[in-house]
Amino acid sequence: MAALKHRRTVLERVEKFLSETYFTDCNLRGRLFGDRCPVASLSYFQAPRRIPYDEAVEQDFRPAQVGDSFGPLWGTCWFKVELSIPTAWAGREVHFIWESDGEGMVWRDAQPVQGLTKEGEKTSYILTSSLKETEPHSLMLYVELACNGLFGAGKGSMIAPPDPEKRFTLSKAELVVFNRDVYELLVDLEILLDMAKLLGEEDQRSFQALYTANQMVNVCDVMDPSTFPAARDLAAEIFSQRNGESQHTIHAMGHCHIDSAWLWPYEETIRKCARSWVTVIRLMEHNPELTFACSQAQQFEWVRSVYPGLYARIQDFVAKGQFIPVGGTWVEMDGNLPSGESMVRQFLQGQRFFQEQFGRLCSEFWLPDTFGYSAQLPQLMRGCGIRRFLTQKLSWNLVNTFPHHTFFWEGIDGSRVLTHFPPGDSYGMHGQVEEVLKTLKNNKDKGYVNHSAFLFGFGDGGGGPTQKMLDRMKRMRDTDGLPRVQLSTPDQLFSILEKDSSHLCTWVGELFLELHNGTYTTQAQIKKGNRECERILHDVEVLSTLAVARDSTFQYPASQLQQLWRLLLLNQFHDVLPGSCIQLVVEDALQYYTEIRRAGAVLQEEAVQGLCRDLLQPEVGSTQSTLVLNTLPWERTEVISRSGPPGAETLAMVTVPSMGYTIVREPLLPPQLVTVWKQEDGSVVMENGVIAVCLDAMGRLTSLQLVGSERESVADGCCANQFALFDDVPLYWDAWDVMDYHLETRKPVTTLLKPLNVTLGGGLRGSASFSLQVGKSSTLTQEIILDATSPYLRFLTQVEWKEAHKFLKVEFPVQVRSTNATYEIQFGHLQRPTHRNTSWDWARFEVWAHKWLDLSEHGFGVALLNDCKYGASALGNVLSLSLLRAPKSPDAMADIGYHEFTYAVMPHQGSLQEAGVIQCAYNLNFPLHTVPTSSAQCPTWSAFSVSSPAVVLETVKQAEDRPEAMVVRLYEAHGSTVVAWLQTSLPVKEAMLCDLLEQPVKGGCLPLEPGGVRLSFTPFHVLSLLLVLEL
Ligand SMILES: [Zn+2]
Repeated sequence: MAALKHRRTVLERVEKFLSETYFTDCNLRGRLFGDRCPVASLSYFQAPRRIPYDEAVEQDFRPAQVGDSFGPLWGTCWFKVELSIPTAWAGREVHFIWESDGEGMVWRDAQPVQGLTKEGEKTSYILTSSLKETEPHSLMLYVELACNGLFGAGKGSMIAPPDPEKRFTLSKAELVVFNRDVYELLVDLEILLDMAKLLGEEDQRSFQALYTANQMVNVCDVMDPSTFPAARDLAAEIFSQRNGESQHTIHAMGHCHIDSAWLWPYEETIRKCARSWVTVIRLMEHNPELTFACSQAQQFEWVRSVYPGLYARIQDFVAKGQFIPVGGTWVEMDGNLPSGESMVRQFLQGQRFFQEQFGRLCSEFWLPDTFGYSAQLPQLMRGCGIRRFLTQKLSWNLVNTFPHHTFFWEGIDGSRVLTHFPPGDSYGMHGQVEEVLKTLKNNKDKGYVNHSAFLFGFGDGGGGPTQKMLDRMKRMRDTDGLPRVQLSTPDQLFSILEKDSSHLCTWVGELFLELHNGTYTTQAQIKKGNRECERILHDVEVLSTLAVARDSTFQYPASQLQQLWRLLLLNQFHDVLPGSCIQLVVEDALQYYTEIRRAGAVLQEEAVQGLCRDLLQPEVGSTQSTLVLNTLPWERTEVISRSGPPGAETLAMVTVPSMGYTIVREPLLPPQLVTVWKQEDGSVVMENGVIAVCLDAMGRLTSLQLVGSERESVADGCCANQFALFDDVPLYWDAWDVMDYHLETRKPVTTLLKPLNVTLGGGLRGSASFSLQVGKSSTLTQEIILDATSPYLRFLTQVEWKEAHKFLKVEFPVQVRSTNATYEIQFGHLQRPTHRNTSWDWARFEVWAHKWLDLSEHGFGVALLNDCKYGASALGNVLSLSLLRAPKSPDAMADIGYHEFTYAVMPHQGSLQEAGVIQCAYNLNFPLHTVPTSSAQCPTWSAFSVSSPAVVLETVKQAEDRPEAMVVRLYEAHGSTVVAWLQTSLPVKEAMLCDLLEQPVKGGCLPLEPGGVRLSFTPFHVLSLLLVLEL
């Protein structure tokens, strides 16, 4: 009989046939499962912490019931499950069903075999696909249940702080017969229904799919499986109708984005990885075509050390090319805040791990979920053997739609990498018709690019891909009207994109995310820990390397440094360094920084001992003196404080050579001392012969001048060092987002608690301090310090912060006019507009910088330096530094408490390059080291110096696996083409260029000339050298 042409009723008829809610007594869905039976016995043991299997199974297990609730939050319950499969189920597919609010891992014969997480659509463990009579019908499993959900345990909303009272209910534990034939038919019908709905009424394929589905319902008697094959044949006919040659190809790759810590602690991530990856491996065993792209060396390392059996199986599937390590980095780090050297180490640690463990380097950088991407990344990728990049996060932009999905991304030095954003704007696809159509339609490079990535699988412990996703995509392999879907690999996709890339557009500069701009500031202690630990590891490496070069018996602490670097790199994960994690994670992160500081101090002392052993031997009859070490590659003249008689500290002015040391007995006298005087109106004037400042009673700069010029830095009628408090209530992502409208709520901080008072009357140093009340109950105390000869004024700031949803900034309105401000980034700098002309400009109302930002016009400018801040902005002539936020989710205590930080203002003549802003910002961040001694000698020693102020020697370290060689890394910091000579007093016998992975570059041998090693740079070029020592 002919069907009627009523689209709506036919659509809904098919929907009801598949419904989980309606008519399950007579529809197809209701037939998915057959007989059920309870487990034979269920008992549990509540573990005090995360314990290994061997320990767990030794415990006393107590009876448990389905329906019981377990806890506490972050706890673990181990269940012993005894199963007895009814003999009547012979020939049937039997599943063990486990549904709970927690995240489960099934253990069988002492091995993890399957993750079970409801939110990842993983509630079945398949016991047998066809029960044989010879098979044992009774067996015992263990289920390790983590008492937390896939996204932690937010109270009321996902990102709310975790609910400590939360309990985790076991709602199902049973055996069922699974009707595979019903399942296959359901998948057929779901795809057809989606095609009918989503292709739309203008598309004839929509109707072909719809009428086929309708006919299948007609053919199908749900009580009589013998009718199913005929229905399936109808579906197969539609699915086998092929596309034309021009159809788009989707490269599907299994994926499971696992945040290394976020709404759960690091320790739980280890188990999330195990649960997810064992599930993937199991799926691969049944689906040899399944590919799975997996990033983050740290996660592999966790699984390697905690789950060796599982890891061995992963290695097998890596060898088969199915389990595919990608990314090349230690973790998926934040893309903005880590220093240049940190980013290099992310790749160095990551790539070396992948090479060691799997015999290959990753060829793609993989960072789907980070909050913006530094313009220095293309060069760093290229230096680490990577020419391809995949992300999708810019699809989260709040203001502008990024114009490309496949393009060349060009960094500040001109390096380019082929970049692909999966056009479906997700890294957690489910293999549905809607998603493949979005991938096709949303692609911004139609006509240029006919291939796209499609990452499917539940992330964050959801266990990645499911059988159902694979079964859906099988039906869409090549079905007319839908893009072709093939299981593929990152390499296959990028190789095709590379072949036909001549038309692609190029995006120059940073990939700025127009969202989550609060992450430059949130969790100030984490930011401070990061900056400080980057400095500590830099200094330990410099000093230890020099110690080796001076004394071959000194042992370079290679393994300790690797361990400390890995802790620092782990904390750079894209929900930790940005501050978007729960309190438990913050505590872990701060603990890791404490560990780096503690171990770093010991290593530094050992290195100084190794480097200066002779000088540190107490000598009879000699007077007190101070050994001063400089880890930066230029000579510095600064005021230091050195310990005098017990309890007393004295100031001294010293000149220390570049990357070297000196011994100070008689301090230098500066050409001019600092003068400080308080005026009648309470204002304080300080001067050091370089700069002259006038501060009002509230500590605000009413004048800042370069001595000898009349040039005023502070804008007319304005005060600089003005604190301002903003309401900071975003739309949803509390710790992440500061919205543009917060700027409309600005309130200057003007409640004085203690007026400006002179604390040091001048000489080598002058200072004055004051206190303010900030908001309702926070206080801020600042000491403003001017040192002899210093070109900048320092602001040592202490804050007791007790706010809620407020944002504290400090502003410097300056007398400079420029349409662009300059911000330091990794190994270089870039400019961003100071105006709001276009939507792309105003979307950057809050941006990030590293150690400095600068606003300059021809011949004059003002720079703002800092020692641990990252958020900043420049609007018109006002430079702002973002100091503290107070979000309440996911950490209700974020930033509450005591903070100490320093920033500095530096007016200058000429350009920022000519004025040495870059060097001054380094000096502020890398204080000179002082060690009391009583040496009779007064040597001065320099290991390295560089002939050009444009070139910064950033890193000195021992080469990996080559104790007789060191690596030095330099970069061009001015944005210029320049030749520089690297001079050294060390016994170098060979010099060669190497890449960032420390592999010698072909033809990279450099002659050792009397003037040193000659190096040529283009703007922002990073160069690494291997120097082989005569030891
Ligand atoms: Zn993430």
